[in-house]
Amino acid sequence: MAQVYDVIVLGVGGMGSATCHHLARRGAKVLGLEQFALNHDRGSSHGESRMIRQAYFEHPDYVPLLLRAYELWSELEQTLGQTLFYRTGVMISGGPNGEAFAGAKLAASLHHLPLEELTAESAAARWPSFRFPSDHSVAFEPAAGLLLVEKCVQSHIELARRFGAEVRANENVCGWSSNGQTVAVKTQSGEFQARSLVVTAGAWASRCISDLGVPLSVLRKVVAWFPIRTGEYRIEQKIPAYFFDLPHGRFYGFPSLDGKTIKIAEHSGGQPIDDPTVVDRSLLPVELQRLQATLADHMPGIDPSPERHSTCLYTMSPDSHFIVDLHPQWKNVAIACGFSGHGFKFVPVIGEVLADLALNGRTEHSTQFLGLSRFQ
Ligand SMILES: Cc1cc2nc3c(=O)[nH]c(=O)nc-3n(C[C@H](O)[C@H](O)[C@H](O)COP(=O)(O)OP(=O)(O)OC[C@H]3O[C@@H](n4cnc5c(N)ncnc54)[C@H](O)[C@@H]3O)c2cc1C
Repeated sequence: MAQVYDVIVLGVGGMGSATCHHLARRGAKVLGLEQFALNHDRGSSHGESRMIRQAYFEHPDYVPLLLRAYELWSELEQTLGQTLFYRTGVMISGGPNGEAFAGAKLAASLHHLPLEELTAESAAARWPSFRFPSDHSVAFEPAAGLLLVEKCVQSHIELARRFGAEVRANENVCGWSSNGQTVAVKTQSGEFQARSLVVTAGAWASRCISDLGVPLSVLRKVVAWFPIRTGEYRIEQKIPAYFFDLPHGRFYGFPSLDGKTIKIAEHSGGQPIDDPTVVDRSLLPVELQRLQATLADHMPGIDPSPERHSTCLYTMSPDSHFIVDLHPQWKNVAIACGFSGHGFKFVPVIGEVLADLALNGRTEHSTQFLGLSRFQ
């Protein structure tokens, strides 16, 4: 007779790996199914680094989730005895009334978070290798920083397995059904049964929850690493992660981790794609030019010829806020998708929320603002 699991997790990337961990450590019998190799580079959770901050300009309602995420990242680091989170601080440079600077200030004041305010001049004196537009204000959040994205996914999978989760690579889920009590999940190699299902399918989510008609769109994004010519851009030199909110776009990046190259990417824009499995992996001339122009204006010590690049996918919800909820028809199916290019920092707390939803049908975390009902 086929094995019956407590929970099947469909998609073991960022969110799925944390969900497997949180379920397994509560003693649930878990099966994680991943269509590609584990920790692959075809979805949204790869490319060395992810920014993490709490003074959340996207919406202050995220802050309580971030406070819990910080606790869980620390716990994970302690359990493994490894560094996943470099507390470099993050600086946000933008117009004083722009969404990024003003939003960060608002979230910090509502939630009493430490956030320093600098003028363009004082920021340039503090980080002389960066250039700030003279009409910008700069917010510096000292408790923010960067996460080592692949190591985070790997750690969650490793701990999930330590607690007994079964995590299978190269298992493409081609369909699922629920009768409210159990779910049946079909892959190319067979059928699995469980009491509950968690769908964490990233850019492929709309195929897995097509019955809900949530209009998710997928954007192709490129990040690139450029050599350091002169100046201070290295993590050992206490350089923070950076975010420039400019009239023509939003650009961000991280201090150099390898001592030789610095990573930069554009958060705005992106090329819509129909099929997340078929993605152009090249760095297009227009993308390169926009990154080079930002480097020339704001980081003049960087060489404009990139050493390498990587493509990645944003899965956008209609309002750029996450979707984390139970399926409206099947209460034994939980869904987390539409992370809209800012979800990674939340990975462990989303894992905790999804474990709550899958095992108890409810969570104590404040996730109502991320519910599906807002699209009705
Ligand atoms: C370039 C870039 C930069 C970013 N920067 C930041 C940042 O600085 N800070 C931040 O917080 N966030 C950032 N994000 C966003 C963040 O990385 C994502 O929100 C997060 O990684 C999404 O995780 P996920 O689990 O939804 O998707 P994924 O990690 O892609 O996982 C989904 C998984 O489901 C699998 N899957 C899908 N369909 C099936 C199927 N049918 N069968 C089996 N498996 C399936 C996929 O193969 C994949 O492994 C960035 C994203 C990108 C692309």
